[in-house]
Amino acid sequence: MKNLHIWVLAGIIAGVLLGAVLNNAYIDVAHSNVSATISPDSAEYPKALADNLKQTVEGTWLGAALRGISKIFLNMLKMVVIPLVFFSLLSGILSLGGGENLGRMGMKTGGWYLMTSLISIVTGLVFVNLIAPGEGLNLAIPTEAREAHPPKSFWDILINMVPSNVVGAAAKFDMFGVIFFTLAFGAALTRVSGPALDTMRGVIEAGSEAMMTLTEWVMAVSPVGIAALIASTVASTGLEIFSALIWFVLTVAVALGFHVFISMPTLVYTFTKRNPYQYMRAMMPALLTGFSTASSSGTLGVTMETAEKRGGVSKRVTSFVLPLGATVNMDGTALFECVTVLFIAQFHAATHPEFAPLGLGAQLLVVFLALAVSIGAAGIPHAGLVMMVIILNAVNLPLEYTALVWAVDRVLDMCRTATNIWSDACGAYVVAHSENALEEARV
Ligand code: ASP
Repeated sequence: MKNLHIWVLAGIIAGVLLGAVLNNAYIDVAHSNVSATISPDSAEYPKALADNLKQTVEGTWLGAALRGISKIFLNMLKMVVIPLVFFSLLSGILSLGGGENLGRMGMKTGGWYLMTSLISIVTGLVFVNLIAPGEGLNLAIPTEAREAHPPKSFWDILINMVPSNVVGAAAKFDMFGVIFFTLAFGAALTRVSGPALDTMRGVIEAGSEAMMTLTEWVMAVSPVGIAALIASTVASTGLEIFSALIWFVLTVAVALGFHVFISMPTLVYTFTKRNPYQYMRAMMPALLTGFSTASSSGTLGVTMETAEKRGGVSKRVTSFVLPLGATVNMDGTALFECVTVLFIAQFHAATHPEFAPLGLGAQLLVVFLALAVSIGAAGIPHAGLVMMVIILNAVNLPLEYTALVWAVDRVLDMCRTATNIWSDACGAYVVAHSENALEEARV
């Protein structure tokens, strides 16, 4: 949809205003309800007040409608995830293809993408633990009760990764199982040859395009869903919630900046001994297009053109490395997933004593899932946030918190998309250098 971001912005503003009006209208009722049983000075008071406000507001027709629309929107987000991951992972694997040449370039490209994504996630992990934007935040956001799952042991996690029934795994929203099966299936598919493979390739390409389109449709109605989600949240929490996000936004921005301006150039220099900042200048048109559209797939044409004409990377390399990168290599998205989930865990732990802060094991799980999600996420606006439900689900955090992140997601999305494209472009540069297919950048 054209101008989606303007509609999303309008949705956010409408949601905030509506929420503030509802909050104002019912806050006195809620105060008097809650203070009848709990002392206003006690630690449980803010949460009880928010819960009571939520109940009171949902008792009205408008509140009930807002709740209904938010739930439908969250359901739609979850609905697209499994088929989207399935088809786009497969199409990524198939585009690696067979043949010795492709195989060699595939290894280099895959290696680069894996390495930079991991470095990026670890950067996010370090910054979110250092800055700890969610710690001590007292955000009493009402969420639906979730079953508490006892922490899993290492062996349990491994056992769960291998599904006994792939349809059952999908039905339980068990992403590990689905990803494991998809990778195995993709690996097996590369052994098939002849016309049968062409048919399959066609099905997968069509399936992945159709799922992209379906996701875009969900995004097209997202302004309404976002407005409802934000209105319900603000109705029960008031407006203070937004100032709470400043540190979170800064954490994402600083970590992305570190990755783009320090880690990646260092890597590029190490592999090529050429000036990475000159290449960055050459790639500016693509980076800025990515920044303004928040879609790396949408920018792919510009990225390929720019890498070839201005960056001096040969067409043989750009035509393979960049399309693959636009679907599977998303450093910015991976970093964002990691920082956001840990931020949510930090403040959730602060308000829910029964939720133990994520330990090293759980953080490693987040790292692994952030990698998987960044591979599976489509290169379209907000895809990263859509896919975050997978990780929240896996570490038992309520999905309602995404409402908070939606409020600031556009600007974060612009930054992470430019990061995603920069990492693809660096991949093309390094692979081209090793294949003797690199000329001087023309800026
Ligand atoms: N918008 C990003 C991209 O196109 C994906 C994301 O939402 O993280 O690269």
